Amino acid sequence: MPDPVAQVEGARRMIKDRNTVWHHATVSRSRREEKNRHRSVVLWFTGLSGAGKSTLAHAVEAELYRFDCRTLVLDGDNIRHGLCSDLGFSIHDRSENIRRIGEVAKLFIEAGVIAMAAFISPLRADRERARSLFPHGDFIEIYCQASLEVCERRDVKDMYRRARAGEIKEFTGISSPYEAPENPELVVNTGGSPLSDCVGQIVDFLRQRNILPLEMR
Ligand code: ADP
Repeated sequence: MPDPVAQVEGARRMIKDRNTVWHHATVSRSRREEKNRHRSVVLWFTGLSGAGKSTLAHAVEAELYRFDCRTLVLDGDNIRHGLCSDLGFSIHDRSENIRRIGEVAKLFIEAGVIAMAAFISPLRADRERARSLFPHGDFIEIYCQASLEVCERRDVKDMYRRARAGEIKEFTGISSPYEAPENPELVVNTGGSPLSDCVGQIVDFLRQRNILPLEMR
């Protein structure tokens, strides 16, 4: 476990106003986890547009909800309507987008929630920076593996056609890079396997790591 004081000191170095002092919670994360009867972790879904990140995150959430788990899906498009509505798709804005999501996920972890972040998050460095916000084992990177060909064939939002036509600039996989994870905790074949198999794979993983309520283990 990282030393919380060192973590705060690390954060302090980056903040502009040095006169803020961290207030430690009385109702701590571990107390919340105990009450919820499950651990809080972040499931970080990464993959191309149309790979199945949102579909899978919501399906996993539905399964966990049946067992009274506290969950929340942070969905790329939705977050861009609010918290990140000032950001576009340049490399800089994408990094800032992921930085903010990482920080939001961290708040939900403190709240005892299983947070599921479904974002293309194309750059390894940005995902690693998000990972670095969490104690070891709390950040579970899930690579939703689907080839560009499959995603383009699905073209759920008509985006690939428009990107090919030059109507959308900086589109991941077409005119902007995607760096697949090198060592994700999980790789799910969202391009070829049925959704239920992918959900099962993730729930099994959470079970093995003793993250879920006892009756689900
Ligand atoms: P993303 O969030 O990655 O952009 P979406 O979840 O919006 O992708 O869309 C993925 C599409 O792929 C949906 O139409 C979904 O029904 C379909 N799909 C087929 N198989 C799977 C699977 N195993 N997991 C997730 N989505 C799948």
